[in-house]
Amino acid sequence: MGFVITLLIVIIIAYIIFEVHMGSPILFVLDCIDIYRFKHHKEFKYTYLNQCVPSLTPEEENVLKQKFAYYNSLSHDKQLIFGYRIKRFLEDKSFIGMEELEVVKEMQLLIAATAVKLTFGLRYYTYDCFHTFRIYPSQFYSRLVNSYMYGGASISGVMSLAWDNFLHGFETTVDNINLGFHEFAHALIISQQNDVTIPSFKLYTADYDFEVEYAKRVMANDDFFREYAFTNDMEFFAVAVEHFFENPVTLREKLPNLYLCLAKMLLQDPAGNTPMSRYRTSINGKMWVLRPQDENTL
Ligand SMILES: [Zn+2]
Repeated sequence: MGFVITLLIVIIIAYIIFEVHMGSPILFVLDCIDIYRFKHHKEFKYTYLNQCVPSLTPEEENVLKQKFAYYNSLSHDKQLIFGYRIKRFLEDKSFIGMEELEVVKEMQLLIAATAVKLTFGLRYYTYDCFHTFRIYPSQFYSRLVNSYMYGGASISGVMSLAWDNFLHGFETTVDNINLGFHEFAHALIISQQNDVTIPSFKLYTADYDFEVEYAKRVMANDDFFREYAFTNDMEFFAVAVEHFFENPVTLREKLPNLYLCLAKMLLQDPAGNTPMSRYRTSINGKMWVLRPQDENTL
C-alpha cells in the first residue's frame, strides 16, 4: 500500500514538473505570484536574486546607457537584474558575422538587451532553443523563402538579423517597426512550443486569440497594423508586440483588450497604470469582454 501511494506521489510530481513548467514547480508557483502581483500593480521583487550574481562590466553598461534607452529608465535594482539576465542569455549563444561582417561585443549586448526587455516581466528569458545568431550587414537573400529578408527566427534555433535594420528599429518609434522585438516575439512563441511552458501565456492565450480575431475585424480597413501583420497568426503576434513596445499608449487606446492580453502574457505594462480590473475575461469559460465603447450600455 505504501509503495502504491509513493508511486502515485512520484507520478503526480513528475506530471507537475513535465506539464506545468518543464522544469520546476517552484518556478511555476513564483510565476503565479508574479501574475498576481502584476494584476494588482504590485512591484516585482526578485528576492531570490542576491547581489553576488555576475553583472555587466562598466564598458558593457556604458553601451546600454548610450544605445539602449530602456536601461536608463530602470531603477538601480532592476538594472542589476537586467544586466544579470543579459549575462545569462549570452552564456551559451553564438554570434556569427555573415558576409564578412565583424561581430563586436556591442552587437551581442544589444541583441541580448532586446531579448531581455521583451521577457523582463517573465522568469523565462534565456530562449534556450535559440543557440545561433547570424548577423548580416543588411538585408539578405534567403533560399528557403526565395526572397530578400531583414530577419528570421527558425525552429532549428537560428535567428538571422540584418544589422542596419535592427539598429533602425531603435532609432524611431513612429513606424511601429522594430526588427529585434519582431524576431524575439517569434522566438518566444517557438520556445513556448518546443521548450518551456510560460504560465501567463497558457492562462491568457484563449483571451488573446479572441482579441486577435476582434482586432483583425475592426482593423481590416485601417492602416494601424501594417499589412504584413495579416500574413498569419505568428506575424500578427510579432507585429502586435512591436506596437506594444513602440507605441503602447496608442495600442491601448485603439485596442484596449488586445493591449491588456499582451500585458498579462508578458507581465509588463509599458503604457503605465493600465487598470487591470476594468476588463473582464473568461467568465465560466465564456468570453465576457468589456470594451470602452460598450461601457455606456452596461
Ligand atoms: Zn515575422
